[in-house]
Amino acid sequence: VLFNSLEEMDKSGITFEFYGSNGKEASQSIVAVPMLLHGKVSGMISAQSYKPDAYTKDDQYLLELLASHAAIAMENSRLFTTIQYLADTDPLTGILTRRKFYELAEREFNHAKRYTRPLSVMMLDVDEFKKFNDRFGHHVGDLVLKLVVSQCKLSLREVDIFGRLGGEEFSVALPNTDLERAVQVAERLSRLVKEAVLNEAENLFEMATGDKPEKDSLKISVSIVVAACDDSCKNIDVLMDHADRAMYSVKNKGRNQISVWRNGQ
Ligand code: GH3
Ligand code: MG
Ligand code: MG
Repeated sequence: VLFNSLEEMDKSGITFEFYGSNGKEASQSIVAVPMLLHGKVSGMISAQSYKPDAYTKDDQYLLELLASHAAIAMENSRLFTTIQYLADTDPLTGILTRRKFYELAEREFNHAKRYTRPLSVMMLDVDEFKKFNDRFGHHVGDLVLKLVVSQCKLSLREVDIFGRLGGEEFSVALPNTDLERAVQVAERLSRLVKEAVLNEAENLFEMATGDKPEKDSLKISVSIVVAACDDSCKNIDVLMDHADRAMYSVKNKGRNQISVWRNGQ
């Protein structure tokens, strides 16, 4: 729309409210155009002037052109945010993806080195999960993974970086946390996960399948390894590699335990 006087505005039947005006300094001219995207209005751009006869039809066309570009720019920005969210967030559990975990953990690693602060990482792997899936179904397995994540979150702080490395494998980077403290967190986490599965897995199974599971059959355990950053860690990959190797040895030692990586062992 384009109005070049208060009379024209009055005649239009549209109610205008000018902020900050006390009647005397009301806008006399207004040009307003919709921001159109795929034929739908996604917003509006308007310009106002205290002078009458301030705008021409050409001004309106120019604003329309600007509005169409602005609509596309806004949509692109919205899509970018969505894509970024999808790339950073694991769809099943809502925690960080492997890529994002490494990005943020690396940042913490550099921070820890610069300020000589402790940094620990933890890796958690659900034991014999393939068997669990085979026995109770993938859907129940998915619900258990979500349960594992929600229980872990109870033991973690806002600043901890929690990601899904893949499948049934999770990792946490614990800023400002030494080995001893990280082991305490791992112990609490392991206990909470096991308790929750014991208490809730039957309901999950029943909800997912409509059947009652065999008594006490839905147990799971987790293997957790903890590694603290030391002089041997030149980058985050080395630290994660330590944890990975410790996990390998826990799995060989019979699972369901917390293990610590120590240099030279
Ligand atoms: P281990 O104790 O040695 O870790 O044995 P595991 O069976 O847990 O390990 P393995 O790596 O052999 O198998 C991992 C299994 O995790 C395979 C797959 O069935 C299951 N899995 C991976 N991703 C998902 C998922 O998103 N949902 C479900 N339900 N299962 C998954
Ligand atoms: Mg496993
Ligand atoms: Mg695994």
